[in-house]
Amino acid sequence: MAVLWLDEIGADDLETVGGKGASLGELTGAGLPVPPGFVVTAGTYRSFIESAEIDEDLFDAVDVDADDSAALADAADRAQELILETPFPDDLREEILESYREVGDGEAFVAVRSSATAEDLPDASFAGQQETFLNVTEEDLLDRVRECWASLFTQRAIYYRQEQGFEHDVVNIAVVVQQMVDAEKSGVMFTSHPSTGEATMIIEAAWGLGEAVVSGAVSPDNYVVPRDDGDLDVTVAEKKVMHVKDEETGETVEKPVPEDKRDARVISDEEIDQLVALGERVEDHYDAPQDVEWAIADGDVYMLQSRPITTIDESSDAPDPVDDTVNAASGVTDGSGAVGATAGSTSQPSGNVLVDGLGSSPGVVSGPAKIVTKLDDLAKVAEGDVIVTEMTMPDMVPAMKRASGIITDEGGMTSHAAIVSRELGVPAIVGTGNATTVLEDDQVVTLDGDKGSVLEGQEVEPDEETEPVEEVRPQSPVKPMTATKVKVNVSIPEAAERAAATGADGVGLLRTEHMILSLNQTPESYVEENGPDAYTKELVDGIRSVADEFYPRPVRVRTLDAPTDEFRQLEGGDAEPHEHNPMLGYRGIRRSLDRTEIFQYELEAFRRLYEMGYDNVEIMFPLVNDAEDVYAAKRQLEAAGIDPDKRRWGVMIETPASALAVEGMAAAGIDFASFGTNDLTQYTLAVDRNNENVADRFDELHPSVLALIGDVIETCREHDVDTSICGQAGSKPEMVQFLVDEGISSISANIDAVRDVQHEVKREEQRLLLESVR
Ligand code: PEP
Ligand code: MG
Repeated sequence: MAVLWLDEIGADDLETVGGKGASLGELTGAGLPVPPGFVVTAGTYRSFIESAEIDEDLFDAVDVDADDSAALADAADRAQELILETPFPDDLREEILESYREVGDGEAFVAVRSSATAEDLPDASFAGQQETFLNVTEEDLLDRVRECWASLFTQRAIYYRQEQGFEHDVVNIAVVVQQMVDAEKSGVMFTSHPSTGEATMIIEAAWGLGEAVVSGAVSPDNYVVPRDDGDLDVTVAEKKVMHVKDEETGETVEKPVPEDKRDARVISDEEIDQLVALGERVEDHYDAPQDVEWAIADGDVYMLQSRPITTIDESSDAPDPVDDTVNAASGVTDGSGAVGATAGSTSQPSGNVLVDGLGSSPGVVSGPAKIVTKLDDLAKVAEGDVIVTEMTMPDMVPAMKRASGIITDEGGMTSHAAIVSRELGVPAIVGTGNATTVLEDDQVVTLDGDKGSVLEGQEVEPDEETEPVEEVRPQSPVKPMTATKVKVNVSIPEAAERAAATGADGVGLLRTEHMILSLNQTPESYVEENGPDAYTKELVDGIRSVADEFYPRPVRVRTLDAPTDEFRQLEGGDAEPHEHNPMLGYRGIRRSLDRTEIFQYELEAFRRLYEMGYDNVEIMFPLVNDAEDVYAAKRQLEAAGIDPDKRRWGVMIETPASALAVEGMAAAGIDFASFGTNDLTQYTLAVDRNNENVADRFDELHPSVLALIGDVIETCREHDVDTSICGQAGSKPEMVQFLVDEGISSISANIDAVRDVQHEVKREEQRLLLESVR
């Protein structure tokens, strides 16, 4: 038998039908309303490649050095070609088509999905690409099945198996063929609270097919249903788009939601009751809380998938994320948006203040100071030391990881030291002005990264030291449900895992500067010495490590934006132009559009990532001023072989000019505009963001900055362009409130602030809702 019907399959058939097939079979067997279908088994795939005698060629073709991007691309092409060009044996063809004809009387639209079997692999979904084709009919069915098989050999899947040290032939693939539900409404349901395990069901619902909810294309309504007594809590979102079947082509298309349905509640009380009953049945069946995908068509409720919820924090008396007491109880917001540590009062330092500055990464630590004035000094930094330096540089990152704390003379809250130490979770104080002259080598100091003060002596024992908040209070990978997305900023790829563990909805800003500056050579000098391919590969590797960690959550990658004074310190830096004011100079898109040859090598990295299947990568251009800049950048995308209509790309709003010109940029086709408030504030107020003498005038909440932001959000909403913030101010509660009120689409925060921002967003959304009904 080449195929097994869903009602013939149970949970034990994992090896034959893969994870997805086994789960659907199990649910069908339990009498749950799963749309009918069958699975082309993993054994069928295996006998297909063996009887056609392509198996050995296939495994030889993919036995390559996965770090060699060109070889990897060739291997994937060759392997996929072998599968796609091998014809089906007649008997197999007939069996699959006949089974199809039994589903929905031969006229059904079916969904065709790969279901990888990779028992020993930590993540089978990576091992075999999760290919899905919707609204397939008899005509295309066999091609789609073959494409699912070929998805075992995408560049990303090959790379992943190679990285994990697995042989390619341990992974097989089954294909689920299942009748499509032409859903009027659909969504997901958690049968218990996904982080606290509390007895509430949480339902998310939107119009049309469920892909829009699962992929994050739409902000769904949110229904919190207490399972004992208690009131239903409904948050109706503005649902701009829906995925539906195009009646003519049968393809799934994204359409605007009709005006009268945009703000309308999606599911009725009766439908909630039906979903809750279904949730209870599936939870009873598995005896564990479940995460369910559901759909409603013609009044019938269907269940499309169910997985156990793995994110409940068993250990915790974890506070309820929708409860306003969370922050008050742990005292974690200090009004500056920085998230403070939760040490008991006994560990608060009280000695002499030696120097003070801006507390830029939270936590309290003690250790011997190490004054670093040149790179050679880094060797003396041991585990637990406190680095004291003028300003940190990319080369210092390995030592910054070893250090227990970081103190700098220069810099503000958005400087390299501040950004990187926050991402590494190392307490830091920046902009002290004189720490390198006041402090002495080996002098034991206590650094309070919340208050910004450095005290004499050891005020805390190592076991009392406080760490960034998410390590003190375990973070659930699932965020409180909010209509406004909450994302995270990443500047060093090493921080990606920590960033992903926050449960953020994606990366709102991935800075690429660190990937380049850490080569210790300017891009031009690096390309000259190592060739363009090596340069592209550095970017591919850096971006890929973050895109993998977040897949399929979106990762917004910014093209290079470093000022010439940072490049000047690197090898090849002598060739950099001398500028009176580098912040107003040759940086961001200005440099890229002037040095298009190098820019093309950079964009080639994106092209390769798309080719490798990283469809979660988005491209963001920094420091644009007007539509002309945007059209020029778009032409560069096209020149690099990237189709701007197929990929998501956008700009940063960092200058008043760009804020005033956003309408023209919308016409140029941007998908999103993201506020870089670090620069927008410095350029609006004429306050150098790195100058400690005017640090007290650096005010992201200044009415003029807010007026520009508010106007941009309004214009973008009119033109269906998403808005976001990725500057430091996105981590501040007051800014979050303002942005949610204005209707921003997403907020990207520092790693340590994600959890608080999620709560702040939730609270503000609830406040707005209450206000609207009172
Ligand atoms: C900003 O300007 O707010 C921003 C996020 O970019 P950067 O800090 O890298 O200039
Ligand atoms: Mg900027």
